[in-house]
Amino acid sequence: MVLICPICKKALKKTARTCHCENGHSYDISAEGYVYLLPPNKKHSKMPGDNRQMVDCRRRFLETGLYEPFSTRLNSLVTQAVADREAPVLVDAGCGEGYYTGRIKAHLDALGIKAEITGFDISKFAVKETKKKYKGITFAVGSIFDAPVADSAADCLVNVFAPIVPKEFARVVKPGGLMILAVPGARHLFGLKEILYEQPYENEKKDTFYDGFVFLERIAVKDEIQITEQSLITDLFAMTPYYWKTSVQGSARLQCAQALQTELHFDFLIYRRE
Ligand SMILES: [Zn+2]
Repeated sequence: MVLICPICKKALKKTARTCHCENGHSYDISAEGYVYLLPPNKKHSKMPGDNRQMVDCRRRFLETGLYEPFSTRLNSLVTQAVADREAPVLVDAGCGEGYYTGRIKAHLDALGIKAEITGFDISKFAVKETKKKYKGITFAVGSIFDAPVADSAADCLVNVFAPIVPKEFARVVKPGGLMILAVPGARHLFGLKEILYEQPYENEKKDTFYDGFVFLERIAVKDEIQITEQSLITDLFAMTPYYWKTSVQGSARLQCAQALQTELHFDFLIYRRE
């Protein structure tokens, strides 16, 4: 296991019902099979991360397959990153309900690449979903700002639309290992923003320099989708950051929207750990 004790940072060992470190800190494995590694003083709120409703919305939206082209591209990027490595270790930092993690696992399995895959997210509701669906992956509830992952553990770290914590990622990725970040491209979901805002703005192009990493490549993956189901438009909205910062009028316009046509644009940023 690549997971570490969130209190003393020692390696965790797994038994049937618990994970524990050599200092006697013990963490229960839930009935679903994930381990909860968020100490009370690191929670910052009673129920940190995406709430149950947001997780449900995202799961329903992702299940439509509308983001599948991005997941498929991520699968091939991960494959390239780990194919020549012996028993590669993959970490999905901020894995949400495990959509991308699960598909990476299925893809590597199909190619006969035996990887050890670990995903963690701060939302308990999201991690609960992972274990209902995806087998053969270690999932944990944990903070991305204080990742419950051992130093230099990962041959490849992926991060899809989750907070980017360069210092933690540099600690976790092995020298020579790869980090793959997925960030929203300039016009990602622009059609949605045209409904929500009087003056929609394009996403800022993210900085590509992080200490400890050599930037290798930016790969843009674009698509265009049309949604004609109101409930699905709402699901998509609830999985975006705009959910938190849209005016009452903007939300009302969205409630009335019967159709949505929008660009999708993921940028994959690839780095090698020095
Ligand atoms: Zn400990």
